[in-house]
Amino acid sequence: MNVAAIVPAAGSGVRLGAGVPKAFVELAGVPIVVRAVQGLLASGVVDQVVVAVPEPLLAEACALFAGDPVLVIVGGQDRTTSVRRALEVLCGAHGRERSAGPEGDGPRVVLVHDAARPLTPPALVASVVASVAAGHGAVVPALPLADTVKRVDAVGAVESTVDRSALRAVQTPQGFRREVLQRAYAAAGESATDDAGLVEALGERVVTVPGDARAFKVTTAWDLRIAELLLGEESS
Ligand code: C5P
Repeated sequence: MNVAAIVPAAGSGVRLGAGVPKAFVELAGVPIVVRAVQGLLASGVVDQVVVAVPEPLLAEACALFAGDPVLVIVGGQDRTTSVRRALEVLCGAHGRERSAGPEGDGPRVVLVHDAARPLTPPALVASVVASVAAGHGAVVPALPLADTVKRVDAVGAVESTVDRSALRAVQTPQGFRREVLQRAYAAAGESATDDAGLVEALGERVVTVPGDARAFKVTTAWDLRIAELLLGEESS
């Protein structure tokens, strides 16, 4: 089965304070977007990857992925546009498919994976793809919440305690039958942050597979430190 992955890494966000976009911050000497893509490819189930990067970093990114089955493109002004552009590259512009067959000749499965999840285990990638292959149109890795969750008002006073037993924190890669993701993006506005949310908006079913703590998102300097420590543990 042909499986492609899209990695939106075109944000200019420098919240990690390193002076470069987050995806290009190094984790033990390797940019986090490179680690994220290596994890996808190490799964053995991903045939090709499209990475969307900021225009000024295009040449640098092409060099980073030279020799890998990775296509680097310039992203858009927001995440939605970056993913949409990558989908167009994979499947033809405006959802038009390259072949006349019902399935087209694009990938059958498309994953969308955050560049900022550099330690995502390859086994998690494989488990998402297996779930799509088993017939699900949209699949997300999810973890139960460890902390008690409160609903608060505008000044932070507690209004209620939320029943967390039915809540999940969702990770990536999120996996889709290609045509489902294409329909979701055809209907989407400009500011979606969660691809599965777009599928939900179509009224389609989204299922979960067990997530993995190591697939956490690097957002703060603290997260980067944790990732460095985990990597150090693995290599010692
Ligand atoms: O800025 P934010 O954390 O919401 O970005 C989420 C992801 O989308 C990041 O990996 C970022 O690089 C990517 N992104 C993108 N194109 C943009 C803005 C963000 O690919 N124009």
